[in-house]
Amino acid sequence: MTKPISGFSKLSKEEKIDWIVNNYTHNPEQSKHVIEAYWNSDSQLQKLHDEFIENTISNLYMPLGIAPNFLIDEKLYAIPMAIEESSVVAAASKAAKFWLKKGGFKTTVLGTEKVGQVHFIFKGSYTSLSQFFDFVKPKLLLETESLTKSMSERGGGILNIELRDKTADLENYFQLHCTFDTQDAMGANFINSCLEQFATTLKSEALKYASFTEEERNIELIMSILSNYVPNCLVRAEVSCPIEELNISTEVSPKTFAEKMVRAIEIAKVEPYRAVTHNKGIMNGIDAVVLATGNDFRAVEAGVHAYASKNGRYSSLTHAEITNGIFKFWIEIPLALGTVGGLTKLHPLVKMNLEILRNPSAKELMRIMAVAGLAQNFAAVSSLVTTGIQKGHMKMHLMNILNQNGATEEEKAKIISIFKTQTVTHRGVLNALEDLRKQP
Ligand code: NDP
Repeated sequence: MTKPISGFSKLSKEEKIDWIVNNYTHNPEQSKHVIEAYWNSDSQLQKLHDEFIENTISNLYMPLGIAPNFLIDEKLYAIPMAIEESSVVAAASKAAKFWLKKGGFKTTVLGTEKVGQVHFIFKGSYTSLSQFFDFVKPKLLLETESLTKSMSERGGGILNIELRDKTADLENYFQLHCTFDTQDAMGANFINSCLEQFATTLKSEALKYASFTEEERNIELIMSILSNYVPNCLVRAEVSCPIEELNISTEVSPKTFAEKMVRAIEIAKVEPYRAVTHNKGIMNGIDAVVLATGNDFRAVEAGVHAYASKNGRYSSLTHAEITNGIFKFWIEIPLALGTVGGLTKLHPLVKMNLEILRNPSAKELMRIMAVAGLAQNFAAVSSLVTTGIQKGHMKMHLMNILNQNGATEEEKAKIISIFKTQTVTHRGVLNALEDLRKQP
């Protein structure tokens, strides 16, 4: 039985590796070899990665692919995508090429407002707290001036501070609900620093506030933290074309295709089981760009799914309609992104990916990501309502199966040619490989 360890973080990297492989893997020598095989040969680059997190032993990397031909607001982009799932980059590229000839994608940034809250307990009436809030609000702003100076010079900063009475949900619970403009930064550090200063000022001013009773003076601070729910940091991306131009498949007419697309979106709007998978497909596109640009995928994921449930039922993030013979397909999605701060300038590949995207502002990156999500969803739903997704998916999966089974380049070529006319199944590919290997 493995014993708990104390002081793990103080061990050297080699000692950490020895401890983990000896205590948790069945073949320590082999495990150590795997860990070391993923180290970067450039020791400076490896040191950079080691220092991103704590207790680093190796790197787990993902393929980085490029989806070219995205025409977004008249500009042509090649989008870097970091993702392990086959078919995603191919589907995005296919959708980009399809819409390239139809005017491309049009986007609008609907808002860039971020949110943070100071949560506290106040044992007194709302009226008395509200009077104190009116008194303290200018001080809250004054005492954060050193933090907000450069953000304000960039055109951002604190937008508003509001007192919210939450006592209907939880006894004596109030909050400062604060909004921010963080320009090209995702803003976690800026927002959290402002919130912690608000909390300090709130607490100390309450202690001195003459009109409070003894009990009211003792505001109990619970926490100060940004929210990843950003319904007003919103971007819209859309495509449209006359129905007759939707020549997606030889098996369905453009009119039937358009109607099926609209029906599929209607289903994802009313049926949460479908909506979750529908939105997962959208996030295939978005997460891949979030990762490639060093943004925080947990923050984006949490915010997006909360937004998908904003009306009380988890629903589709994309919309479709046919009006006067025009098919329109669009997405509205909250995205709190940064093109400065975090990993953006620190990780050499992230820096290069941002350069490939022409060093976008955070607003431009919002537009690009919304498009990646919309394109991905268009490709997935188009396949679903026509051929089904397995045909394309299994073709890509074929390569993974062959790699997993150590196929040589010659074997790969032969098997790929066999499966040009056959349905790809895991067992089928293994059998074909086995047959091939039995041949003299
Ligand atoms: P940083 O603090 O690394 O960088 C942002 C700072 O860069 C700004 O505050 C600003 O500081 C400066 N800056 C320089 N140029 C600009 C510009 N053009 N626009 C805006 N700011 C600029 O990053 P973030 O605060 O954005 O934080 C992102 C990181 O926080 C991510 O890695 C995320 O994972 C992590 N995080 C996320 C949390 C969450 O989502 N719940 C919680 C905590 C951390 P100045 O004004 O002083 O110059």
